[in-house]
Amino acid sequence: MKDNWYDLIEKLKNVVSEDRILYSVPMKEHTSMRVGGAARMLILPSNREEIVEAVKMLHSMDIPYYVVGNGTNLIVSDEGYPGVIIKFAENYSDIHVDGCEITALAGASLASVSNAAMRNSLSGLEFASGIPGTIGGAVTMNAGAYNCEMKDVVIETSCIDEHGNELLLKGDEHDFGYRSSRIQKEKLIVVEVKMRLQRGNISDIKEKMMYFNACRREKQPLDMPSAGSVFKRPRGFYAGRLIEDAGLKGYRIGGAMVSEKHCGFIVNTGNATANDVIKLIEYVKERVFQNSGVMLEHEVKILGG
Ligand SMILES: Cc1cc2nc3c(=O)[nH]c(=O)nc-3n(C[C@H](O)[C@H](O)[C@H](O)COP(=O)(O)OP(=O)(O)OC[C@H]3O[C@@H](n4cnc5c(N)ncnc54)[C@H](O)[C@@H]3O)c2cc1C
Repeated sequence: MKDNWYDLIEKLKNVVSEDRILYSVPMKEHTSMRVGGAARMLILPSNREEIVEAVKMLHSMDIPYYVVGNGTNLIVSDEGYPGVIIKFAENYSDIHVDGCEITALAGASLASVSNAAMRNSLSGLEFASGIPGTIGGAVTMNAGAYNCEMKDVVIETSCIDEHGNELLLKGDEHDFGYRSSRIQKEKLIVVEVKMRLQRGNISDIKEKMMYFNACRREKQPLDMPSAGSVFKRPRGFYAGRLIEDAGLKGYRIGGAMVSEKHCGFIVNTGNATANDVIKLIEYVKERVFQNSGVMLEHEVKILGG
């Protein structure tokens, strides 16, 4: 590890309040898959200045960092992460509604942003109300469901680059693709997102949200830890169907299992390690390729290892 680490701790304390700097943090407590070793440090910034200053400091001291939201699309290796995790959650989650526009800080949950939209009779985010991530994670991943994606509603994103420079992405500058964005490619940090929605009828919006969430409860293994759909949807196929056709429904490696309810999900049956999950991802890819000739690509992010 870098010998400037203690230096960093002292300097960070001048930027982020001490109670929001955590040490040796088990990442299984910050990811929905509930696996993964410890991050050397985790910080919870609560304003933009803290983020900018922390990033500048980490960059200048050549200390690795990684941004997380709710950790619902993330597997951290059992070896953990030898750097600083910058986490956006309740610590940075204000939501502001102005006419048809909603502005949310990166750590706001999609559920709370969608609910704010509904309460203000704004339609367009119903699809997102059951996705368990933050708005920052959702824009980065261009999260989507039920034929809608974040790109349909996002108009502006305030970001910070690795030098601590602030930049504003508008419209096409996001370069959104299927579960991808310029933010991922350039490793930008999302701090604030502005969305434009349409006026709607509150009870229609509520009904649609309830319908989508009922579909999720029916089809997805929401009672077990997972990272959602592990694989991207291959053109012309469904990953879950290909996995089932390869005979892998319920297949286990250690404590990781291909869900019996939805084969596109890998679930933690209780004592899985990150290694079990990663090995199972690779095994599924191999078997699906042998069976169908389709090479699956994982959507979940794997950190470390
Ligand atoms: C049960 C379940 C159902 C799901 N259903 C769906 C679904 O229907 N559709 C869908 O698209 N996804 C789904 N997901 C996956 C996941 O919820 C989404 O991808 C979500 O948008 C991730 O947000 P997060 O805050 O958890 O991001 P994280 O998992 O914390 O991070 C994901 C990636 O985004 C980056 N990131 C996070 N926050 C920021 C930020 N502020 N700035 C820059 N980069 C950032 C991280 O570095 C990482 O690379 C599901 C997951 C689960 C567990």
